[in-house]
Amino acid sequence: MRLLLVEDDTLLGDGLRVGLRQAGYAVDWVQDGQSARLSLQSESYDLVVLDLGLPKINGLEVLKWLRSQNNSVSVLVLTARDTVKDRIVGLDSGADDYLIKPFDLDELIARLRALSRRGRGISTPLLQHGTITLDPAAHQVKREGEFVDLSSREFALLHQLLLNMGRVQTRDQLESHLYGWGEEVESNSIEVHIHHLRRKLGSQLIRTLRGIGYVIDKP
Ligand code: CA
Repeated sequence: MRLLLVEDDTLLGDGLRVGLRQAGYAVDWVQDGQSARLSLQSESYDLVVLDLGLPKINGLEVLKWLRSQNNSVSVLVLTARDTVKDRIVGLDSGADDYLIKPFDLDELIARLRALSRRGRGISTPLLQHGTITLDPAAHQVKREGEFVDLSSREFALLHQLLLNMGRVQTRDQLESHLYGWGEEVESNSIEVHIHHLRRKLGSQLIRTLRGIGYVIDKP
């Protein structure tokens, strides 16, 4: 999943980027409201983590602009200002959730998982296809009840395909969900990850549409 992190505090932003990448997100990090707008115009994100106090354009203005563009990406607002008014204004301006600084990284990640489920209208935390079960919270995959050992990219790829079951994902779409800016993408990396997933989970699970992309068909 591709995530835009908007945070001007260098120490916090860097820590969040590392933590969110470890949790399997492809993270792009910007440090002011103007760069946030440019990123949101040029990239398609699954989630946005937005600080409110930002240089150039503040977070609330970014949020109002985003919703005025009919962009419905899930937004979690970070705020240091623990006042009821700020939270109400944030939620009224189109935020889906908020966290007050300082917060726990695990709580942020748990809330992001909940947001991405809600954004897709999926209420159950487990994703299932036949005998394969993916647990986004525990970062675990089981096949016929047995744990399957996947790399973080393989997990992210399977997660993306299961979230979009029945909808073809192009290679570009998958790459943009797996890799943030500045991360090296080998030209055949998606093929390699798909190959490993088939070896571990069975050759029938993921269907290739030659020249177009990949899909996990609805069972
Ligand atoms: Ca700030």
